[in-house]
Amino acid sequence: MDRQYICSFCGRSSEEVEAIVTGPGVNICNECVKYAEEIIRSDMSRHSLKLAQPVPTPQEINGELDKYVIGQEMAKKSISVAVYNHYKRIGQEVKNDLELSKSNILLIGPTGTGKTLMAQSLARFLQVPFAIADATTLTEAGYVGEDVENVLVRLLQSADYRLERAEKGIVYVDEIDKIARKEESSSITRDVSGEGVQQGLLKLLEGSIVSVPPKGGRKHPEQSLINVNTKDILFICGGSFEGLEKIVAHRVGKKVMGFGAKITENRLDSLARILSQVEPDDLLRFGLIPELIGRLPIVSTLDELDEKTLMRILIEPKNALVKQYKLLFEMDHVELEFDQKALKAVVREAQKKKTGARALRSIMENVMLDIMYRIPSMENVKSCYITESVITRGAEPRYTYQKKVQASRA
Ligand code: ADP
Repeated sequence: MDRQYICSFCGRSSEEVEAIVTGPGVNICNECVKYAEEIIRSDMSRHSLKLAQPVPTPQEINGELDKYVIGQEMAKKSISVAVYNHYKRIGQEVKNDLELSKSNILLIGPTGTGKTLMAQSLARFLQVPFAIADATTLTEAGYVGEDVENVLVRLLQSADYRLERAEKGIVYVDEIDKIARKEESSSITRDVSGEGVQQGLLKLLEGSIVSVPPKGGRKHPEQSLINVNTKDILFICGGSFEGLEKIVAHRVGKKVMGFGAKITENRLDSLARILSQVEPDDLLRFGLIPELIGRLPIVSTLDELDEKTLMRILIEPKNALVKQYKLLFEMDHVELEFDQKALKAVVREAQKKKTGARALRSIMENVMLDIMYRIPSMENVKSCYITESVITRGAEPRYTYQKKVQASRA
């Protein structure tokens, strides 16, 4: 190539750079293309952060949660206010010396009652990166298991390694109750899974600069590390805290019926009422370290799910199981209907499993698998009606068929 081209942006000639792209009356070199891309990227990430601006009101947040999370009204309300305040705080210009402090959230409630779902729905609505970590897999640096920093690696991954976005994300730390300090472990042996991990988490929760190996795993000396500032990351911690109700009841002077007791509306009601009175002191007694409790100022309790709520969960949420199956069948041109009694049977079975709403899916999947396996090979099925005995005894659903259309074969 004889002709000399000059980059219209940096003025360098084609001899000085690797390549120049020419356009009508304008040229750009490979280096300037790279810079331009970086500028656009950073502008886009700033743009996408603006999503939280204006911050949706607590009522709007709650309204969005309502689409996915059934019941748990108190928890939804307090989480909506906390999240609203959190994102307002991020947008706050530092005036005077008053800086709003960060409000991480602690969700207490039995397994399968919507703790993860709530955190997940929030992140989706706010369009911020989201990561889930299991506290039981974390260990103190140097022990076998995951380093606490790996929680942030997942957040970075979910933000496509865009640091600014990751630094405004939401992390859900599950099973935080399982790293409680055990009374027996006050011996000389170190408490690997308990207090040490709490200390590690504390570092993340309180807002500090944490060096993270970009690909996860253990840190080692030659590795390049990314510094993540956790100041604006919202941490939502959750756990079932079994036995906490006894601690609270003891303090407020109430008697609690044992765990084995039959689930009646009354028992659920009284359990929920007792748990909702939880105070930092109770958490301390349960085995959380005071500094960590201090970093989780918003405490919200979730109720065990009763039959009515489980039934609503089957049919109401935007992605309710019943809606999903109906859509799947519709794609095969089959109309799917459930008898009310069939759904009640699913709920009854689910309650026996004591895994909250999680059991609904496994029961439904068990029942529907066989039917979904067969239907696409059955001819002319128009509708499929699931009766109670399909759920309880594995009976055949009731089918109706299309009138046979004369097949025209050559
Ligand atoms: P956990 O409280 O143990 O974190 P999850 O939030 O993971 O429980 O719930 C497990 C599944 O059960 C969710 O994916 C969701 O489908 C369903 N689920 C649980 N609670 C609710 C709820 N309150 N409303 C709607 N679905 C729920």
